[in-house]
Amino acid sequence: MMLKGTKIYSIFTGACPKCHQESMYETKNPYVLSDVLKINEKCSHCHTRYRIEPSFFYGSMYVSYAVGIAFAVAAFVISYLFLGSSLMTAFIAIVATVIFCGPIIMRLSRNIWINIFMNYDKELVKK
Ligand SMILES: [Zn+2]
Repeated sequence: MMLKGTKIYSIFTGACPKCHQESMYETKNPYVLSDVLKINEKCSHCHTRYRIEPSFFYGSMYVSYAVGIAFAVAAFVISYLFLGSSLMTAFIAIVATVIFCGPIIMRLSRNIWINIFMNYDKELVKK
């Protein structure tokens, strides 16, 4: 169980980075592709505006590069080192992983990006 009040909780659940009371996203399931990046205007619990400034989430592209590499390395280690596949099969596994985990990677990087700029606030939860 992940602890509410830590950045890890907000990053992995997509919860509001300030109060952790509700999801930032309109649709919780990242595989509803038409809604994958739809973020609510603000938190209905603590009224935090998620877009600090216009096109704020463009910055998450930098994070998504790092997250994508992490997924690719994990796919390589599992297929090549643990399952003993050939290099070609490992390459296919990497491409498939990055494509099929795309929505998760996009959301994870947005969650990490917003958590760089906002911190959990205990006082907001009580309101
Ligand atoms: Zn909130």
